Amino acid sequence: MTSGPMTAVFLEGVHKVVQAEVPVPQPGPRDVLVRMKAVGVCGSDMHYYEHGCIGDFVIEQPLILGHECAGEVAEVGQEVTTLQPGDRVALEPGIPCRRCALCLGGRYNLCRDVVFMGTPPHHGAFRQYVTSPEDFAYRLPDGVSAEVGATVEPLAVGMHACTLTGVQPGESVAVLGAGPIGLLAVAAASAAGAAHITAVDMVPRRLEFAGRMGADRAVDAREADVSSELADSADVVLDCAGVEQTLAQSFNLARPGGRVGWIGMAARTAAVPLIEAQAKELTIVPVFRYANVYGRAVSLLASGRIDTAPLVTHRFRFPEVEEALKFASENREVALKTMVVFD
Ligand SMILES: [Zn+2]
Ligand SMILES: [Zn+2]
Repeated sequence: MTSGPMTAVFLEGVHKVVQAEVPVPQPGPRDVLVRMKAVGVCGSDMHYYEHGCIGDFVIEQPLILGHECAGEVAEVGQEVTTLQPGDRVALEPGIPCRRCALCLGGRYNLCRDVVFMGTPPHHGAFRQYVTSPEDFAYRLPDGVSAEVGATVEPLAVGMHACTLTGVQPGESVAVLGAGPIGLLAVAAASAAGAAHITAVDMVPRRLEFAGRMGADRAVDAREADVSSELADSADVVLDCAGVEQTLAQSFNLARPGGRVGWIGMAARTAAVPLIEAQAKELTIVPVFRYANVYGRAVSLLASGRIDTAPLVTHRFRFPEVEEALKFASENREVALKTMVVFD
């Protein structure tokens, strides 16, 4: 049995990070205990670090952040049948109730009782050991590293967006915002068979990566007049920024009858030209996290159809979580995915 204390890193408030020794969690009968190997720093982790809250989610108690994670199974509960110690796994971080109508209907990401890692009041993955239900731990084949396993989470967002907007082979897709989520939305659209993918951002380094992820056109929004050059050009627009300007651009770039996936969540409210969406009969699809995607995401990574390894641009060694959060927050244009790696 794995026992004794382990190191965990807590966010206590804005820019206040402390390290502490806490007991190793004990897995229930259907849980696995996972020794963390890699945890990605997400925009939401940075937001909590810089502001202490995201909307209504407020850090009131010291909280362990981190939800993009992968590791190695250290121990299994008595009823676990599909995993064994030594297996490497990516963890799906949102555990739903499994009993409500939304869960039973397959839309478990919308479950009102979901327990999501690293979102108050539930602890996340910046610690040495985490427990997970067996069926939310996805075995990584040999060719997929733990770091790549930790990118399944943001990839799942992009894949879910493509599913909800129904990206079809041969279609044209425009992706607004080419941070990690946008880049992985590009990769997901490419894997879904999109024939033309246009990425729009204002950071040259991100646009260069968009090409590597499968975009055939990268547009610098500071140089091009996006609205006139790309109007009505896309079957599907995926807005990964979610600010007023990009929401308006989404309506403009979508062809009449097209679909808009709204993924970015920067704006709580926004003044957008709804009249344009109406005149074009756009289908506007809000996208919240993901459901039923992790298995397919791991398969795509294992097949080599998607490679997320180049996105990991910076690494910090656990327990240097504060350094990682600070660096990622202050270097948003340079750092695509900052990863905390464990011994
Ligand atoms: Zn995330
Ligand atoms: Zn539920």
